[in-house]
Amino acid sequence: MVEFPEASGDQIIAAVVGKPIAHSLSPLIHNTAFKQENLNWVYHAIEVMEEEATECIAAVREKNIRGLSVTMPLKEAVIPYLDGLTETAKELNAINCVFWDGDNLIGDNTDGDGFVNALKSQLNKSLNDKTFAIIGAGGAARSVVYSLGKNSAKQIIVVNRSKQKAEAAVQLGGSNARVGSYEDVAACDIVVNSTPLGMARTPTEALLPVPVEFLSANQTVIDLVYNPIETEFLRQAKSLGATTFSGLGMLIHQALLQFRLWTGLKTPIEGIENVVFNAVSG
Ligand code: NAP
Repeated sequence: MVEFPEASGDQIIAAVVGKPIAHSLSPLIHNTAFKQENLNWVYHAIEVMEEEATECIAAVREKNIRGLSVTMPLKEAVIPYLDGLTETAKELNAINCVFWDGDNLIGDNTDGDGFVNALKSQLNKSLNDKTFAIIGAGGAARSVVYSLGKNSAKQIIVVNRSKQKAEAAVQLGGSNARVGSYEDVAACDIVVNSTPLGMARTPTEALLPVPVEFLSANQTVIDLVYNPIETEFLRQAKSLGATTFSGLGMLIHQALLQFRLWTGLKTPIEGIENVVFNAVSG
């Protein structure tokens, strides 16, 4: 049964739904942002299974939940119960948040734009002279490829274990995207791990998504995995002299895009970055 907590007084409720959800960093990010903006909102993590998708969206309408983040396994499952999708969510056929447009519940996907916003602020440059190797072709990779295509990245090469999924991801990236192999990675400016390899406390924690021989000092290497903050992949890339960024940037930026959809506010990132960094590294 899907139950959102009752609001106290004129408090506004927001939430993330999915399973597993207990270790989600979204409540920390959003509640810090609400506090920073002096908003009487509170954000909860609610466990919802895939088969509860209909019930979940019915409860969002009934309880007037004003902001909803959506994670696995609901990113596609809730789509049939919404009133509409943004262009991005339609293209990806996956959402990571829901917002109200008048009386309509609309699904959006802020993952890819979160990645691009994080990278632009880290590099302080536009992306249209950069070549990208995206390792993986799952949900995260697809959103990144789509947003890089929209942002006119010079070239996007998708390298994935299953070629069929790589080909499907490439369709999202526009005319500068193609399927590639490890050998192509060496020539790219920016290498992005969008597989789960390297996640803390998993059997693949010590594994690399790309053999290190294809990396070099003049590359920027990004891991979408954010726990640990420095994965084995980033550690080895850094030891070669590459510039490295963890997945925390994307995580926070995608959340801030959701925050803006719900509240209309653009809140400063600095305070939130510190809180999240301390939570993950602590
Ligand atoms: P997903 O949909 O399950 O896709 C996983 C991808 O990784 C697939 O392309 C899969 O290849 C590949 N893969 C899995 N295991 C592999 C292995 N042992 N060897 C080679 N390739 C392997 O997952 P996702 O939702 O895209 O998430 C991927 C990672 O990104 C997760 O760690 C997630 O936590 C992270 N993420 C981070 C953020 C952020 O904000 N930083 C946002 C979203 C996701 P096949 O296609 O061949 O199966």
